[in-house]
Amino acid sequence: MDLITALEGLAPELERGLDQASSLEELEGLRVDFLGRKGRLAQIMGRLPQLAPDRRPAVGQAANRVKERCNALFEARKSALEAGRDAQALARFDPSLPGRAPWRGSLHPTTLVTEEICHIFTGLGFEVVSGPEVESDYYNFEALNMPPEHPARDMQDTLYITDKVVLRTHTSPVQARTMLSRKPPLAVVAPGKVYRRDSDLTHTPMFHQIEGLMVGEGISMAHLRGTLTAFVRAVFGGDTQTRFRPSFFPFTEPSAEVDISCCMCGGKGQVDGEPCRVCKTTGWVEILGCGMVDPAVYAAVGYSSDVSGFAFGLGVERVAMLKYGIGDLRMFFENDVRFLGQFA
Ligand SMILES: [Zn+2]
Repeated sequence: MDLITALEGLAPELERGLDQASSLEELEGLRVDFLGRKGRLAQIMGRLPQLAPDRRPAVGQAANRVKERCNALFEARKSALEAGRDAQALARFDPSLPGRAPWRGSLHPTTLVTEEICHIFTGLGFEVVSGPEVESDYYNFEALNMPPEHPARDMQDTLYITDKVVLRTHTSPVQARTMLSRKPPLAVVAPGKVYRRDSDLTHTPMFHQIEGLMVGEGISMAHLRGTLTAFVRAVFGGDTQTRFRPSFFPFTEPSAEVDISCCMCGGKGQVDGEPCRVCKTTGWVEILGCGMVDPAVYAAVGYSSDVSGFAFGLGVERVAMLKYGIGDLRMFFENDVRFLGQFA
């Protein structure tokens, strides 16, 4: 067939196709089919070299005309289809429907518990202080009555940065820093991240602690008991019982570990006749360590021997697990929104 006749047949054929096209997708199919790089127009023009050179300009001009015509037809149909689609969408739109609520974030349970604990202690007259996570050996150990050869250092799996710099293994160095920069009386709590070389079902290399320290004249073990009992009742409820067991920490003397009556079984050791898995039937769970500050610590920070005081430290994740009934420590670090969303 003559190339010009073939070219001129394209536009009417496209027009028929366009009339039948009912969607923008079909329209795009037609565009590729007729005007695409391997489309009908391109195929016809591919035969141009077979023509005698003097015939080629006329065919080229015809091709340009057809292309313009096809483009115009295509654009007109596209506008019509788009207008129809918009009208349909508007007809379906119901402005009286309620909107979709956006996702609301929530604070992490570790943050919630940290804030709650700090709030309780500030209510008791404590002040919130902080210290660095990268800590010198001196503040992390030595100032807390743990010289280099002290056996208590074995209790801590320390992450060393250099021989003299560590990632703090507890929040206790903030005690030493506070006492070095202030004079008694003082009452502070220090929340923050701590690091140990430890990772299994019940230990993670990073976790959160809160350290507390009260120093002044005449501070006794009775103040310690009263403060911590008020604290656990504020967190776990007014019926919670406490039990102080003798323990050992290098920087307190005497030292104690505090148990609370199990919040899962109410101290009975059983839930619905089954052994309680939280307290392992004992009715008690350990919640924190504490004690009267060792006089050696006062000497290290230059306090007079007239002062006395107490210190305590607790794991934030531990409190959160007991408070919210969370059975797996790893939940705190996996950032699964199905878990985190429950604290909104
Ligand atoms: Zn129990």
